[in-house]
Amino acid sequence: MNIEKLESWFLNHKRKLNFRGNTDPYLIWVSEIMLQQTQAETVEPYFEKFIKKYPNVQSLANADLEELKKTVEGIGYYRRFKLMHEAAMVITTKHQGRFPDTYEDVIKLNGIGKYTAGAIMSIAYDKPFSAVDGNVIRVLSRYLGDYGDMRKEKEKKKLDQYNQHMIEKAHPRIYTESMIELGALVCKPKQPQCESCPLNEHCFAYQNHSVEALPFLSKLKKQKVFQYHVFILEDEHHYYLRKRTESLLEGMYEWPQFESESYYAAIEQLSERGIEAEIIDSLGHYKHVFSHQIWEMDAYLLRIIQCNSSQFIKIKKENLNQYPMAVAHQKIKIA
Ligand code: SF4
Repeated sequence: MNIEKLESWFLNHKRKLNFRGNTDPYLIWVSEIMLQQTQAETVEPYFEKFIKKYPNVQSLANADLEELKKTVEGIGYYRRFKLMHEAAMVITTKHQGRFPDTYEDVIKLNGIGKYTAGAIMSIAYDKPFSAVDGNVIRVLSRYLGDYGDMRKEKEKKKLDQYNQHMIEKAHPRIYTESMIELGALVCKPKQPQCESCPLNEHCFAYQNHSVEALPFLSKLKKQKVFQYHVFILEDEHHYYLRKRTESLLEGMYEWPQFESESYYAAIEQLSERGIEAEIIDSLGHYKHVFSHQIWEMDAYLLRIIQCNSSQFIKIKKENLNQYPMAVAHQKIKIA
């Protein structure tokens, strides 16, 4: 691979993103965690808000978890921020508040896997540790003409080994960012811009007209579909919420919802939990697609007649915005 050409392309073409261009490991950590499941352009406003509120490890370690979730509400995959919070506490106690600077210590932190550790070590400390994410997998599988199934760990590991070999010959900080940026801007999933790619001369897929066939990814299982009846429960001054304990959206708040085929079966489930309510309005149908499941939601506004339940959290209506809501339920329009 012509590393010199790749790095020089990056220095001339990189995007101006608010989380790039610094070498503070804390800031790189925050941005890399946000980028794990989210597009760079979407991350920018969240990153800004997050850093303003939690400018360093100490402030993150001291954060109130509810407030932290509220700060990132809407970005999804909230468990990653809970793990960050735990990791910040470990850095404060075990590393005297200083972000660790060895790979062994970085990868031990909650929520940090091989990719994130490699990204932090190379971008923050300029050390040669490979960081292979989806973008880099796409670039390398095409460049090398590797037809292995990239859903399989052993196939990704082969590319990681190649990438490690390359970064040892490169400027680690620039190389890692070059590969990620090349995957995002040029070697895109659809219609890659091979003509302007700095790697095109020796790229197997480009030279052999097989770009669209790579990377090879075996078919995923179909997402499971859940039919929910969602109840916006209110009395004159309050709403009633539930705090999730399931691993999906753990710790986020949601409107009470019941998996059932019919409205009446759902109302019965509500009644079994000690709540009698009358329907005020139907609020329509909503759909939310997660990576492994789909929620089909019929929403209703209900007025409480009698409540003998402590399963739900009673909040003042004007305080609703203070509770981090599950993204699927943020879609539901009450008024
Ligand atoms: S030449 Fe095309 S397929 Fe090959 S690395 Fe560049 S953009 Fe990707």
